[in-house]
Amino acid sequence: MSDCVFCKIINSQIPSKKVYEDENVFAFQDISPQAKNHILFVTKKHYPDVEAINQTDELNNIFKAISIVAKQLGVDKTGYRVVTNKGTDAGQTVFHVHFHMLSGQRLSDKMA
Ligand code: 5GP
Ligand code: ZN
Repeated sequence: MSDCVFCKIINSQIPSKKVYEDENVFAFQDISPQAKNHILFVTKKHYPDVEAINQTDELNNIFKAISIVAKQLGVDKTGYRVVTNKGTDAGQTVFHVHFHMLSGQRLSDKMA
């Protein structure tokens, strides 16, 4: 999608701090971090939200990448949180499916 900010990041049209990349998934630091480590995992193919990938292999691709990065960061034992926002009530602002991975500190007990 030509006007999608995450497609532009994947294509290097917009700079980002890349953390991980494979055939299907790209991961980079969130520009406005909400935890010590705040990484966004996106599918390389453009889908608008999590509903659009639930019949595909992309969820598996994303979670495999998250597991690899968790080990790289050394948080696979201490823990991490994965969040995806879908739609208005969840506050989704970028309509290219992405998963937030938060780690590196004790996270809030509240999720909403
Ligand atoms: P959402 O609210 O849609 O779940 O999350 C969108 C996330 O994308 C936000 O946490 C926001 O900080 C991040 N974001 C938006 N634009 C950019 C950008 O240009 N670069 C990076 N690295 N993150 C971005
Ligand atoms: Zn996109």
